[in-house]
Amino acid sequence: MNPLDWTTQAACLGVDLDVFYPDVSEHCDDAKRICATCPVVDACRDYALSQESVANCWGVFGGLSPKERQAILKDKAVEITHGTMSGYHAHVRRRVPVCDSCRAARRLRRGRAA
Ligand code: SF4
Ligand SMILES: [Zn+2]
Repeated sequence: MNPLDWTTQAACLGVDLDVFYPDVSEHCDDAKRICATCPVVDACRDYALSQESVANCWGVFGGLSPKERQAILKDKAVEITHGTMSGYHAHVRRRVPVCDSCRAARRLRRGRAA
């Protein structure tokens, strides 16, 4: 199976590329509206993030502007502090399975709050 098979279902197929590469990165609303209807938005975002670096983000992919993807990439570059609530939230933000230590930290926090 081709790892890029998802591209055949992209909502942006046939759309003017200028929409996805606006001159000013803040003007991404038109592209984001199209991404919001796209059935492969998760695959697109994950692929873009796997191919890009903080210094090399261009255009709208997966419903995210270059600045938004840069923020995610910067966050991923920081090591997770396991066994803490910030570690727990880092797992969730990065959409990776929460480790036992971070789960325990969350349980402890919830127990204190109860
Ligand atoms: S998420 Fe956006 S950029 Fe990615 S394939 Fe879908 S419409 Fe295109
Ligand atoms: Zn952890």
